[in-house]
Amino acid sequence: MDANLLVINCGSSSLKLAVFDSRHRKQASALAERLNSNDAFARISASEQPVQLPSGASHETALSTLINALKDQAIMANDPIAIGHRVVHGGETFREAALLNDESIAAIEDCASLAPLHNPVNLAGIAATRSLYPSVPQVAVFDTAFHQTLPARAFLYALPEAYYRDWAVRRYGFHGTSHFFMAQEAARRLGRTPATTSIISAHLGNGCSITAIRDGISVDTSMGLTPLEGLVMGTRSGDVDPGLFDFLADKGISAEEITEVLNTKSGLLGLSGQTNDMRSLCDLADHGHEPSALAIDIFCFRLAKYVGAMMASLTSLDALVFTGGIGENSARVRQQALSHLRLMGFQIDSELNEAHGAYSQGRVESSDSRFPVLVIPTDEELVIAREASRLATSSPV
Ligand code: AMP
Repeated sequence: MDANLLVINCGSSSLKLAVFDSRHRKQASALAERLNSNDAFARISASEQPVQLPSGASHETALSTLINALKDQAIMANDPIAIGHRVVHGGETFREAALLNDESIAAIEDCASLAPLHNPVNLAGIAATRSLYPSVPQVAVFDTAFHQTLPARAFLYALPEAYYRDWAVRRYGFHGTSHFFMAQEAARRLGRTPATTSIISAHLGNGCSITAIRDGISVDTSMGLTPLEGLVMGTRSGDVDPGLFDFLADKGISAEEITEVLNTKSGLLGLSGQTNDMRSLCDLADHGHEPSALAIDIFCFRLAKYVGAMMASLTSLDALVFTGGIGENSARVRQQALSHLRLMGFQIDSELNEAHGAYSQGRVESSDSRFPVLVIPTDEELVIAREASRLATSSPV
């Protein structure tokens, strides 16, 4: 039986787990959702049967239950050779993935104030696998690490400098693992090396961000201190005037309530009044629901503005790359966003675009486009598996 790599992604109420073989081919994935609630459930991709979870199951319970189920189904008969964890925030401490030990775990704990909803739950997953597999090397791969190369002009806000010095208030950026994968994969498809390839990478899922990558290095990105800044997203507003807080405070809405609204009731959901799901929005718009059509219009226009903004960090552009559930699957969003950028020379081929580049190595631009436009499925789990095996074999625990 081949040795396995385990990849773990703990969200606030969910847990995703993937098993790779030692050649980084995915063997299975498993998912637990609605954790810590009465209707917690789990399933393994390869099997028809749901996995039984006790009501109110925690991340730890879900993890050990899923690992036992993977063992029972002979998907992961032996202990893994390495475990990779997605960790949301690495602050300024982690510029790349890190082998987990008491010291690096303490440093991740120190970053928790920057991501209070995410890092503690990531750490719970780490603690659970460390007690299940005390002698297996474990690695943390950070959403923020790829963006630690941003120059000060891109990461500093125009605020009193003490805010940065005393409280580390700055742009961190997120989705780094996905943007890193785009840099590698776009270079490969273009027959270039990542270190000489410059792209704009648009990750458009329920969360959305866009990154300028110059010669393989992140030089600007749209998400900021938190994942709220930048593009319009499923339920997040993206950029708003910071004066909104004072304006709404006058109406009796607290900072906490406004933050909640900006994160969970805004974006496509807030604009349409119906849904945060792009597929459903497109259906609604096609049936004449005007707020949904407007939500898509605003989403695409903000995206186009940010493509333009990312150009300021580049001296050349080898491709504009779309990824994430919307970026990979919505020909309409790609077409509508790029229709605003004709002045910059982006031209899309509607047939290639409708096929999502399936028969053209992901290429969807027309022959007269100034720049290639690529559609590339993201694979953050693969990056985490690769990093886990690279660090586990290069350093002793
Ligand atoms: P993600 O967070 O990457 O899973 O992306 C979720 C988003 O992708 C949701 O808004 C989905 O509606 C959207 N999505 C997935 N498939 C499609 C599709 N075929 N067309 C348009 N949007 C899609």
